[in-house]
Amino acid sequence: MSHLMNTYARLPVTFSHGEGSRITDIHGKTYLDALSGIAVNTLGHNHSVLVKAIAEQAGRMLHVSNLYGIREQEQLADRLCALSGMSEAFFCNSGCEANEAAIKLARFYGHQQGIDSPAIIVMEKAFHGRTLATLSATGNRKAQAGFEPLVSGFVRVPYNDLAAIRAVAEHNKSVVAVMLEMVQGEGGINIASDEFQRGLRQLCDEQGWLLMCDEVQCGIGRTGKWFGFQHAGIVPDVMTLAKGLGSGVPIGACVTAGKAAGLFKPGNHGSTFGGNPLACTAALTTLATIEQDGLMARAEAVGSAIRQGMKEALANVSGVVDIRGKGLMIGIELDRPCGELVAKGLDAGLLINVTAEKVVRLLPALVMTDAEAKELVERLSALIRAFLTA
Ligand SMILES: *Cc1c(COP(=O)(O)O)cnc(C)c1O
Repeated sequence: MSHLMNTYARLPVTFSHGEGSRITDIHGKTYLDALSGIAVNTLGHNHSVLVKAIAEQAGRMLHVSNLYGIREQEQLADRLCALSGMSEAFFCNSGCEANEAAIKLARFYGHQQGIDSPAIIVMEKAFHGRTLATLSATGNRKAQAGFEPLVSGFVRVPYNDLAAIRAVAEHNKSVVAVMLEMVQGEGGINIASDEFQRGLRQLCDEQGWLLMCDEVQCGIGRTGKWFGFQHAGIVPDVMTLAKGLGSGVPIGACVTAGKAAGLFKPGNHGSTFGGNPLACTAALTTLATIEQDGLMARAEAVGSAIRQGMKEALANVSGVVDIRGKGLMIGIELDRPCGELVAKGLDAGLLINVTAEKVVRLLPALVMTDAEAKELVERLSALIRAFLTA
């Protein structure tokens, strides 16, 4: 009997090592990895530059505590702010922690304006994490069930519906922020339109609200730009990062600008592990490699090739509702629940995911080659075709 807490319905496979977009299990079978540990392994497996940088950092020091100056952390904050046009970064270890920091920051901001019970507008189908506050912000009743009382102070609206948010602004004077994903990942690869993002930016400015972008899944080059909001040409007041930032070494960040910057003072927030030299080195190396190797352009090109290839391969198959995405965040929505495709993929040597019951989700590493993308299209379209015509 396993002594692991039963929090995941794990697939019957255990891996031993990987290389790029290939990963091998303990029995020697090799798989094409189109999931990257859920958008984490930005540089794929065993990237030589990352491995070397981490090993060298480990040889210098792993951890010192935020009670002291950490050069790698300062460099990473500089880098993230330069890339985003923002001004300050707080480092933690995961996406939910980054969002916790953002939620605390929004409340803190509200209290400074004399709002005793600040509220944050969040979206239907949102995913922000599993801690109590981020679970409360998440738009998934199933994930919340059994954990009530939830954290109060969230107002939910439909995604991409600016009018609904304007309506909240009319009657709710406690709102201090809007939090959303620019591309919803767990919710089924739903894309915030550019008009919606720009409208939100304007509304937040009018109302004095913080615009808080959860870029935990869509950030770090995956959509073809460093951050999802850059497609719309806006800059948020707060963004959160995690998953792809350290290419597999855990790190999260809450980055602020404008009226969200300069709010926290010593004692308001913290983290023991957050931003340690090892994690920051992994993140700095990830960012440098994305830039040097042109991986954002690759994400854009390979992503559209996969979407186009899937559209062509499944053109005459009924049951395919939509094939959508941005860069290497791709969803193939079917007309029926398709969770069983994950196990079928595994049998066929393909790592894929299904989210929101009916959406096959692909999150390949930014280093996926054209040949691997072609192979992915061929093998996955065959799987989906067989599933839908069975
Ligand atoms: C995965 C995810 C989170 C939570 O990240 P953890 O590191 O699992 O806490 C938050 N927001 C989004 C958009 C995510 O995809």
